[in-house]
Parts: sequence; structure tokens; C-alpha cells
Amino acid sequence: MVILDGKETAKKLKEELNKKLSCYYEGGNKKCKLKILMVGNNPASEVYVRNKSKACEAVGIEDELIRLDENISQSKLEEKVLSLANDESVHGILIQLPLPKHLDEDAVTELVPPEKDVDGFTTKSLGLLAVGKDGFLSCTPGGIVYMLKNYGIPLAGKHAVVIGRSKIVGKPMALALLNENCTVTACHSKTENLKEITRTADILIAAVGRPLFVTADMVKDGAVVVDVGINRTDDGLKGDVDFDAVADKCSYITPVPGGVGPMTVAYLMNNTVTAYERSLKN
Ligand code: NAD
Repeated sequence: MVILDGKETAKKLKEELNKKLSCYYEGGNKKCKLKILMVGNNPASEVYVRNKSKACEAVGIEDELIRLDENISQSKLEEKVLSLANDESVHGILIQLPLPKHLDEDAVTELVPPEKDVDGFTTKSLGLLAVGKDGFLSCTPGGIVYMLKNYGIPLAGKHAVVIGRSKIVGKPMALALLNENCTVTACHSKTENLKEITRTADILIAAVGRPLFVTADMVKDGAVVVDVGINRTDDGLKGDVDFDAVADKCSYITPVPGGVGPMTVAYLMNNTVTAYERSLKN
């Protein structure tokens, strides 16, 4: 069994991106810029934003955190997003979610133009993914596909089972694996006979949000198991997979922490550098 090391793989990806940007900068090109909009001061968001900012520094992306008052109106926030959308010096826009309850998150997110949607959350980005065209794949599925390929894990023709169908993880994950020529089954809270399905998975992706949900009897011998879950419990941080019980059955498995989490941030950097490169070609 091999542990899929997200920290190491993320480091490698960030180093590659750093080299790329250094070449562009040495050639006299302008800086790659990411703007992060954060409304209020949700403590979990503060941690995520700090990690993203650190990654930007390592890669050579000029990031700016724009802090907005937690009572900001919908129209003022939309104005801010539109001004960044129209600013040619900005390559990527990220709206740190969740937004406070009085704001319409979908309406704000949809204002990010597809070419700057480095989170890949807009309807247009998901649509592009669905038809297999170049858009931005959201960062968790993107990071997972990158990691699987980086370890040389074959995808084409394999049966991939994704548990979870959220807009930011499950659905784009299923589409991304389909685009990689996997045979994909998307499971969710209404799926019947879940265990029978997961036991046929060559690649099993757990994005459920329930600690230790995937048990050994749900996993085929030799499967590749990817644990997206981040669940805070009284016993500390737990994934969606019962790692200790499942690991011996797998060919590859991601740990929590140190698996998918670092890849998500690294893939945000990847999308931002791609947005920058595409802007240089225009
Ligand atoms: P979500 O709550 O939006 O979606 C959970 C999905 O699980 C739903 O689609 C639901 O249908 C499915 N589900 C729930 N109970 C089920 C059951 N009994 N059987 C089968 N399916 C079931 O969550 P999300 O935003 O997709 O996140 C999932 C997990 O991944 C969370 O723990 C979250 O914290 C974590 N996450 C991690 C990263 C990362 O970078 N590592 C990024 C995003 C989310």
C-alpha cells in the first residue's frame, strides 16, 4: 500500500509553477495577480485564506486579501466583484465562502467571469467541464486528478465511484474523472445498496462529510481510495474514511490531514497561473 502524499505532491506542483512564473517575469511580463475577497472574519476562513496567501508567496503570485465589512450590502459586494472582473491587471478572483447569511452567495459567485474563475464554482465553469472544454476545474477535484496522475495511477477504463454530489466537490469530481475516461458512478444520500457499489470501485472518492464513513467492508482489495473529508471530532480531525481499517486493503490511499487538503490549495495556484498564461496569449 502506498500513501498518496499530498504535501509532497503539492510542493512539487508549486515548485513547477514557481519556475514557470519566474520565466515569465524574467521575460519582462507583468505579475500574476490573485484577489481574494473575504466578507467578515469567519475563523475557519481566516485559516484557509492564510494558507492560500502562503502558497501564493511560494509560487510568486501577487495576492491581495480584500477584507469587507460583514454587514456589507449585496449591491456593494456585487459592485466590488464587478470592478475586479473589469480590472485587466487581475487574473484570478476568489470569493472566500461561506458569505454571511444575508448575502446571496450564488448571485455574487456568478459575477466572476469564467476566465478569472480560478475556484471553478460558476455555472459557466461547470458547464465547460460538463462538455469537456477548457474552463477551470474546481480545486479539490483538480488537485485529486493531478495527484492520481502524478503517482502514475491509470484512470482510463477504471471504475471510479464518487460518494457525494456537492457542487464544489462531488459533481465536478465525477465529471473530471469522466473526462479522464473513467467509468463513473456518482453516489449520494439517496443511493441504494451503497456498499455493493463501492465494493466494485477501482478508484473510490469519499466526499461525504461524515467521519470514518467508509469502512473496510465497503472497499475492494487493491482499490485506490481518496479521502476528501475534513471532519472535526472530539478525537481531532478525521477523514470520511476509516484509514486504519481500510489502508491494508488498498493499493493507494490518501491520509487526513496531508492528502487532499494541500492539493486543493496547490491546484488553486495552478488555476491562477493558467488564468495568467491565457491572459498573456490574448
Ligand atoms: P456537502 O455536505 O455539500 O455534500 C456531502 C455529500 O455527501 C452530499 O452530496 C450527500 O448526498 C452525500 N451524502 C451524505 N450522506 C450520505 C450517505 N449516507 N450516503 C451517501 N452519500 C451521502 O459536502 P462537501 O462540501 O462536498 O464536502 C464533503 C467533505 O469534504 C466535508 O467533510 C468537507 O469538509 C470536505 N472538503 C474537503 C476539502 C479539501 O480540500 N480537503 C474541500 C472541500 C470539502
